Amino acid sequence: MHAVLSRPEDHRLTTEVATQPVLRSLSGRTAIVTGSTRGIGEGIARALAEAGCNLVLNGRRSSEEGEPFADAIAATWNVEVRYHAADLRTSSHVERLAAYAQEQFGTVDILVNNAGIQHVAPIEAFADECWDNVLSLNLTAAFHAIKGVLPGMRTHGWGRIINIASVHSLVASPNKCAYVAAKHGLLGLTKVVALETANDGITCNAICPGWVLTELVQHQVEARATASGMCPEEARIDLLRAKQPMFEFSSVESIGALTVFLCSSHARTMTGAAYTMDGGWAAV
Ligand code: NAD
Repeated sequence: MHAVLSRPEDHRLTTEVATQPVLRSLSGRTAIVTGSTRGIGEGIARALAEAGCNLVLNGRRSSEEGEPFADAIAATWNVEVRYHAADLRTSSHVERLAAYAQEQFGTVDILVNNAGIQHVAPIEAFADECWDNVLSLNLTAAFHAIKGVLPGMRTHGWGRIINIASVHSLVASPNKCAYVAAKHGLLGLTKVVALETANDGITCNAICPGWVLTELVQHQVEARATASGMCPEEARIDLLRAKQPMFEFSSVESIGALTVFLCSSHARTMTGAAYTMDGGWAAV
């Protein structure tokens, strides 16, 4: 798609905007997508690959499983894809992932901090270990990954950091103390990084989904079905209705499309913000 230069103020548009096609618009770029072996991360990885971006995938699959998965994405969209099985709860593993991506591709242009876990329990029964796991993966890993890739982005004068936060960055729910604390923290981190990079060609934003039917949510559906005696389909609808004004799950493809848009030149002044895709949840 070519921008149409019709209005007098359009002289402010850069050449980049005027000539950038939508398809393969990220050709030659490299992205790390954490937690991309399934769910939202996989949806984002596929959308970036479709836009021509090279990828470093990551997740809990072993290298034996992860590498063929990476090869299949590479073959579908004719891009270069690697897999790194870093356990991102450990800071040295996050550092290794960032270093590996830079070693393989020379630079990391796009970082998507997506890996996350959930644990549901009232605060008195919330195990210390679960608190530590949720905080280290959902928040601290993003801090270390950003620290690892930012110097390279500054050198190249271009970067996109996208944190997959949650509607729980904006509102709370009972029994999710660690998740809500981590996701509120991730939005705070997003804003600080945006301020520190505001004039360096780098943007940092948070995407805040409501319900997306991935394994992370399927566990909550199953727990609800067991507790209430509902069938899985009823439990799914019940879960949606409890929080979202719109009784519909967002799709991983839609979150992927929003990610690609945030990487485009049209989004270059969008930074430090939270973009909800939540069926109206945060509007309540
Ligand atoms: P998911 O459970 O389907 O996938 C999680 C991914 O993270 C997997 O690839 C898994 O291998 C990886 N992962 C887990 N532990 C890891 C670790 N220690 N190190 C590296 N990778 C690890 O989850 P999802 O629903 O796709 O969620 C992805 C992100 O979106 C999370 O940050 C989650 O909080 C957020 N989110 C999800 C929803 C939803 O409704 N599903 C809503 C809002 C926000």
